[in-house]
Amino acid sequence: MNTYIAAFIATFVGSVLASLFVVWLDRRFRLPAASAEAPLQQFPEPIKLLSASMFVFGAWLCLGLFLLQILSWSTGLWRSEALALGSLCGFLGFTIAYASLAFLIRCPKCQNHVLVQWTTRPPYSKSKFGMDGWATLAMSVAFERKFCCMYCGQRFIVGNEPHSPRQA
Ligand SMILES: [Zn+2]
Repeated sequence: MNTYIAAFIATFVGSVLASLFVVWLDRRFRLPAASAEAPLQQFPEPIKLLSASMFVFGAWLCLGLFLLQILSWSTGLWRSEALALGSLCGFLGFTIAYASLAFLIRCPKCQNHVLVQWTTRPPYSKSKFGMDGWATLAMSVAFERKFCCMYCGQRFIVGNEPHSPRQA
């Protein structure tokens, strides 16, 4: 069987299983007892969180490259198996790296995994560019160096405070 068709079927079956898993998780999810409106805190593990966010972008880049490859191959324009394989391996590598880090990073306030979305509608999820939940959170961490925990609403800065109030 053609590798691309096999990859497509695997992706399809994977996404069906993933959506069933999401439904199951949604039923299990309980709101944390912690509440929002607390002052901004420094996130205790900035390096882990920043690396995990960068891995997300790495994974998206590789996935985009892989999809472009499928597109260009199916239209007969151009074909590079090395690039297709490389981007697929890169995607898997970044995803595994991201996932293993994401399960180590917890919100110090509510103890939920900051980058792992356990429900489709987290109470403090932010929307940006059509994305929400963990994807927006990874973007906020990477570009703004601050984020809001999607489970308890606690706001954190990642790394050094960019606008620290000056002592008069
Ligand atoms: Zn939290």
